[in-house]
Amino acid sequence: MAELDQSTAFPETPRDFGFYVDGQWRQAGDQQERLSPAHDRLVTRTARCSKQDLDDAVAAARRTFENGRWSRIPGAERAAVLLRTAQGLRERRDEIALWEVLENGKPISQAKGEIDHCIACFEVAAGAARLLRGDSFNNMGDSLFGMVLREPIGVVGLITPWNFPFLILCERVPFILASGCTLVVKPAEVTSATTLILADILEKAGLPAGAYNVVTGVGRVIGQALAEHPDVDMLSFTGSTAVGRTCVQASAASNLKKLGLELGGKNPIIVFADSNLDDAADGAAFGINFNTGQCCVSSSRLIVERSVAPEFERILAEKMARIRVGDPLDPRTQIGAVTTSAQNETILGYIEKGKQEGAKVVQGGGALDLGRGRFIQPTLFSGVTPSMAIARDEIFGPVLSSFHFDTTEEAIALANDTIYGLAASVWTSSLNKALTVTRRVRAGRFWVNTIMAGGPETPAGGFKQSGWGREAGIMGVEEYTQVKAVHVEIGARAHWIES
Ligand code: NAD
Repeated sequence: MAELDQSTAFPETPRDFGFYVDGQWRQAGDQQERLSPAHDRLVTRTARCSKQDLDDAVAAARRTFENGRWSRIPGAERAAVLLRTAQGLRERRDEIALWEVLENGKPISQAKGEIDHCIACFEVAAGAARLLRGDSFNNMGDSLFGMVLREPIGVVGLITPWNFPFLILCERVPFILASGCTLVVKPAEVTSATTLILADILEKAGLPAGAYNVVTGVGRVIGQALAEHPDVDMLSFTGSTAVGRTCVQASAASNLKKLGLELGGKNPIIVFADSNLDDAADGAAFGINFNTGQCCVSSSRLIVERSVAPEFERILAEKMARIRVGDPLDPRTQIGAVTTSAQNETILGYIEKGKQEGAKVVQGGGALDLGRGRFIQPTLFSGVTPSMAIARDEIFGPVLSSFHFDTTEEAIALANDTIYGLAASVWTSSLNKALTVTRRVRAGRFWVNTIMAGGPETPAGGFKQSGWGREAGIMGVEEYTQVKAVHVEIGARAHWIES
């Protein structure tokens, strides 16, 4: 492995975390340990919370919501706290990035870039807190005036995955807080550190106790209990479609809490022969390998026009072979470690299945032995047919399946041939083709001649089995509100009962 940059050297000792309820740090009897996926060394110990701990956290969030110290203060005051938090993130950027890398395995340069995005999320949400508004109806006649009030929905449960522990958290928390809601977060068991660090930053920024609570521990225990909790008004879940389905069942069986679901994807990248092939190949290489392919919006299905397919796959394979895979603490690294050993087995299993089902490995095709940790070669399969497992399933790794098409209709049909609808990308120099594909492919996020670009201004979310609802932007705040229709009588009442 490459030598480490001294500014991001490995910490001498593991870091111990409690959990955070009602503005207080607590310890749990039981703890879980996390080894760095790139170095196999112990990095953090976090609490394995009990259901009682969760009940305490929900009760604290409820008290703070009801006493109005957050939910009923002016939007401008909420905005001030969110802006101070953004500043806190700026000051602790290196620290947050380090713990994100140590638990997740992503490259340090990428982690720092993600924190910049998180800062922007807090700033955008601060603006939204001041601009959040309802509506009015001045067209109901002289005697009636109508208003639509937006109110925070209440106590929100937030369950997050391990692939972008801090980024996904920050694409939700500031928007939830901007709406006036309070929340209880349950991060993924293997990547809880940065969610806990945020508690400290929010507290120092002046967030009232009980508005942000964190319980850590086992998903099928604490996550499930949060989804089932009768005093939680809304659950925002980001993770697999399978667990998302159990959250729907838990909501239905408990209090019919509102659900926001951000789930899986099998996202197409469509490349036309008239595109700049070098740019498109760079986009395809980035789209599938960013975050070791453990990315819900990763472009895992390449749909390329047949006339240029061999040339395009050659350019792409050559680029993928040059991606720097290695120690995530090295600032030059582009792909780090696979986050969990279970995920590593899953990815390698799909690579083997692809070979057995007859797809051709054009690049990569297996694990990468760097002496410690778990790494996978950026892998490109050609000759993939729609029924193969690597064509249909979300692999969540750096494995790209290539399909070929002759007509625009065929490209659109291939792109839509999935249960998912999270994201898509199209590369062409034709405005007609770009807009036709953008309008016909069913996906919640779209990129034309680029990929995974954008900021917290625009909403994120999926079509089909990729989820319900939207996060970020104004819609991301509105998601955590409910509307109340108000009717005001003006002047004398026309009596129902005759006098
Ligand atoms: P996962 O579904 O296994 O776990 C996600 C979270 O749910 C974790 O915090 C986990 O502890 C918790 N959990 C586990 N069992 C639970 C249960 N029974 N009830 C409630 N919570 C439970 O997902 P993962 O492996 O952490 O993440 C990978 C998946 O997340 C992929 O499918 C990916 O596409 C998806 N994802 C989607 C988005 C998006 O925005 N659409 C973003 C990131 C990840």
